[in-house]
Amino acid sequence: MEFRGIAVSAGIVIGKAFRLEKETYDIKPNWVKDADVDKEVERFFAAIQASKDQLLAIRKRIEPMSDSEHLSIIDAHLMMIEDQMLVNETVEYIQRHRLSAEWSLKRVLDKLKEHFDSLQDPYFKERKDDLTHIGNRIFNNLLGFGHTSLAELKEDVIVVAHDLSPADTAQMRKERVIAFVTEVGSKTSHTAIMAHSLEIPAVVGVAGIYDAVKTGESLIVDGIRGVVQVSPQQDVFITYLDKQRQFKYYERELQKMKDLPAVTTDNKKVTLMANIEFISEVKAVLERGGEGVGLYRTEFLYMNRYYLPSEAEHFRAYKTLVEHLGEYPAVIRTLDLGGDKFISQLDIYDELNPVLGLRAIRLCLEHVDLFKTQLRAILKASNYGNIKIMYPMISGIDELRSANAVLEEVKAELRKEGEPFDEHIPVGIMIEIPSAAITSDILAEEAAFFSIGTNDLIQYSIAIDRINKNVAYLYEPLHPAILRLISHVITAAHAKGITVGMCGEMASDPKYTLLLLGMGLDQYSTNADALLKIKKIIRSVSFAEAHDIAQQALSYSSAADTEKFITDLMESRFPDIFCYFD
Ligand code: PEP
Ligand code: MG
Repeated sequence: MEFRGIAVSAGIVIGKAFRLEKETYDIKPNWVKDADVDKEVERFFAAIQASKDQLLAIRKRIEPMSDSEHLSIIDAHLMMIEDQMLVNETVEYIQRHRLSAEWSLKRVLDKLKEHFDSLQDPYFKERKDDLTHIGNRIFNNLLGFGHTSLAELKEDVIVVAHDLSPADTAQMRKERVIAFVTEVGSKTSHTAIMAHSLEIPAVVGVAGIYDAVKTGESLIVDGIRGVVQVSPQQDVFITYLDKQRQFKYYERELQKMKDLPAVTTDNKKVTLMANIEFISEVKAVLERGGEGVGLYRTEFLYMNRYYLPSEAEHFRAYKTLVEHLGEYPAVIRTLDLGGDKFISQLDIYDELNPVLGLRAIRLCLEHVDLFKTQLRAILKASNYGNIKIMYPMISGIDELRSANAVLEEVKAELRKEGEPFDEHIPVGIMIEIPSAAITSDILAEEAAFFSIGTNDLIQYSIAIDRINKNVAYLYEPLHPAILRLISHVITAAHAKGITVGMCGEMASDPKYTLLLLGMGLDQYSTNADALLKIKKIIRSVSFAEAHDIAQQALSYSSAADTEKFITDLMESRFPDIFCYFD
């Protein structure tokens, strides 16, 4: 039987299933005698304490092999368990209604989850999952169940679960988990992020898999295409054995190129860097031959927490980043909050069109203190490595000048304090708004480099909400308008002698590698998985040929025609990349 879900961590694994107990509780309102109310409150506090102790024990166990981000996910759960609202409201509920701790906690959790639901934001959807995880842990302790642990596994297994908490996932490397499959989850859930950095093949969002699988049953997990085969027939099994062998061979072949330059046959060198959200990803970037970080999405430093990060926390993150990268550069993008990335610590008004609202650099220029805290930390860290600053969502030259004015103020403060920093730190901008693309010749006078953010550039040029499924069919990187804008930006930048990179998802898709190369792109910033495939493509062509391909692509009047031209060309030239392992 075949199931489909979202591939979050590549690899093909064949093994035995281990069904992780589904945590469902049938909690009914149980009354507590007046005389027992204090005891009930104590029982609740004991369960909170036990839950904290368990999380601290997990934290201690994984600490030696984890980085600060994995630990901070556990820390976030610890903070949620201690959250005053959760604890106080539950206690108050017990006392006011004379109802059991389980029921009172359930009511408070439901209310909080309802609130998160009403915010309709992917970030809060995941916080809702976090609440479920910590709620389950407290219920387990109230009800006296042991929390199901992966620690008792005696053999290699593929874990099948309805959901996995980050605490479960964090323990996996040590245990014998060769892959996992869950019913819920998304590409950006913490569980997915951890799977990726622990390099455990995984598929999430597989509806119905939990009830379809028994422990011990044979499973195939294809973390490349997001496919799960349950009790496969012999022919399917043999096909996957072959795919697994080919994938390993293909990975080994790609890996051989790790230390070779990304250079065309006629000696045009481009730079391949990577996008990261967490510093733990740097290891994978370097292992795949990345020449630095072309986009560090720093807004992730603000998420999963109750307080805004301090200057010291920012500094620690940036210093760790450049220390890992050595000589390679780190392009630190100043925070891009707002739009679909919302945080509760800031009082941002409800906006009718948040994507067109107070987002990214606009938010920073409105909340200058927030911006300055980050800039101070970036500048201080620039004393320890190769850092470049990049502003998101610049719409025109005045905004760039305003941002630079704040940067100059911060530099002056640091000089006064005697804090050393890189006086010549390059300051570049993202080109992701049509007005910036069109005026890129003007912006190139005052920006040190450009990085094209196609995710937003496409959204704003074609007028489609990038997270709205109803208009997803219009999200077309090969739309002639997009190709013309990209070409215009590259030409304008080169005329002023500055480099152009691309950090939007278009750069990560090997299908567009030759086209972008031929248009003159200097630098690709991609997800770590794409790096070696892109290098392979670049090393196999001449720039002259890529240039001709780009010219041809630019000559079509419809995205569909360009798509056909590019797809046919790339599939026939690189069947291993596009036909077998895409
Ligand atoms: C982009 O818009 O292409 C980009 C890289 O930024 P983000 O996806 O973080 O908005
Ligand atoms: Mg963007």
